[in-house]
Amino acid sequence: MTTDDAPIARFAIYARYSSPMQEMTSIAGQLRLCRDRVATLGGVIAGEYTDPELSGTAMQRRPGLRQLIEDARAHRFDSVCIEGLDRLARSQADMAWLYRELRFLGIDLYSLEDGQVDALHAAIKGILSEMFIDNIGHKTRRGHIEALHDHRVIGASVYGYRMGNFISDDGKPVRGLRVIEPAEAEVVRRIYRLYLDGMSPTRIVRLLNREGVPGPEGEAWDARIVRGRQQNGILRNEIYRGLLIYGRTRSRRHPDTGIRHYELRPREEWTIIEAPELRIVDDGTWQAVQDEVARRRSRRHAVVAAGRKAAYPLTDRVRCGVCGAPMTIADKHRYRCVARRRDPESCSNNRGILLEDLEEAASRQLFAWMLAHGRDWQRLFAAAGAENEERRRTLRERAADADAGIARLLSAIESGIPSTSIGERVLELERARNEALAGLERLPGPPPPAGFDIRAYVRERVVQLRSAVTGSARNQRREEALLAIRDFTARIEVRPCKGPERIEVETAPDIPALLEAVSRHAAAGPAAHGPQTPPLKVE
Ligand SMILES: [Zn+2]
Repeated sequence: MTTDDAPIARFAIYARYSSPMQEMTSIAGQLRLCRDRVATLGGVIAGEYTDPELSGTAMQRRPGLRQLIEDARAHRFDSVCIEGLDRLARSQADMAWLYRELRFLGIDLYSLEDGQVDALHAAIKGILSEMFIDNIGHKTRRGHIEALHDHRVIGASVYGYRMGNFISDDGKPVRGLRVIEPAEAEVVRRIYRLYLDGMSPTRIVRLLNREGVPGPEGEAWDARIVRGRQQNGILRNEIYRGLLIYGRTRSRRHPDTGIRHYELRPREEWTIIEAPELRIVDDGTWQAVQDEVARRRSRRHAVVAAGRKAAYPLTDRVRCGVCGAPMTIADKHRYRCVARRRDPESCSNNRGILLEDLEEAASRQLFAWMLAHGRDWQRLFAAAGAENEERRRTLRERAADADAGIARLLSAIESGIPSTSIGERVLELERARNEALAGLERLPGPPPPAGFDIRAYVRERVVQLRSAVTGSARNQRREEALLAIRDFTARIEVRPCKGPERIEVETAPDIPALLEAVSRHAAAGPAAHGPQTPPLKVE
């Protein structure tokens, strides 16, 4: 407002796509209601902010709200109007912080439900929102356990069973009971036998696909279906020995990121119900397979651990400049082309490069790139930003789709539709949403603020790394520096050339990783510079 007569209150309006748990009011509807209220209060609208896509629990992920706070700090408005307080924040901590922040800036908060909001209001609403979220989780779990006791189906369909509908003794239809599907049960038993015969899951599924045995849902077999993660694979699912299990994992939402973390509970805490009518595999076979799974896993771990001990950090970035194959350490600490070692006809790159020479050349080239005089970091950030916009949009859409799906399912639960598979489907959608959010997290952050000296930070980092890799002592400090160098490196190509060196190294930086490190450091604030940068003395 630039008029200097009557002080008219400038309002910001904030609206958010409804959370799953309550009746939905569209954003357009929320905005309309708020505009009306602002008009009644005699104010003008200085800005409208919306967050259409993400769930309310992850405050940091709501760009609209972030913009609102930024503009509040720039004093672009005097008051905020929202439909309900739960549009603004869903946790007590978020609410308290927001309220304090707005109060500090001298900004009034109005909600359609409560009118002008005071501190007590904000606190109570915050607590109620939190309880509401917890409550939904409890309801879903309770429904699951009840269903389990009736041996009814929870979650996705399981290979080896189909849904059967029965008439109970008193003549009522009973839905949701599983029955064994004999042909599929036979395949399950065969998978167990083949595995005990020493076949790997990969070979088992190859065999089944070759024979044209249809997999779960009629799809082709995949080793993951057999092996599974945790207790889901065919080899590990306890339903095949007649046990129904619920509550293996516990999930918690991280208060800052809003991402759910899953952890395995101890077996004593699981809900285990015997359902002998569902048994497909006898106890002896079941136990033998579990022992074999454990044995193969520990063998694999031993191999991986041994490999890790001898690993040289840069190895997985090194490629043969002639054929593109990886290069690994062969005779006397020399990297050589893997393809040529396997078959000398396949690649002409017959030179090896000493481990230390490669590490030296790759670090030197990376440092030179980082320190290059004309390196325009701002432009790199701009280019990366544009490139990531598309990816960001896709991930946001995916998260929004999952949220919309969760909203539909939860409102079905709320309205009492008695399908217990909904809960599991909600978790599934939630996982999809969290994956998308985690993907967003990994995208390079925003460019550092104008005041942040990127060059100084990069120079400092190079000095640290360089001092750690100078010399050839293979100690932990060098190892850590090489790991950092690897993270900043996309590819190291090695090819023969004419000239005294006879071999040439070309190192390509991993620009997104470098930008990420810069923006992470800038976000951590000046304190993160720590003791390495002596304070400037101003005389
Ligand atoms: Zn090669």
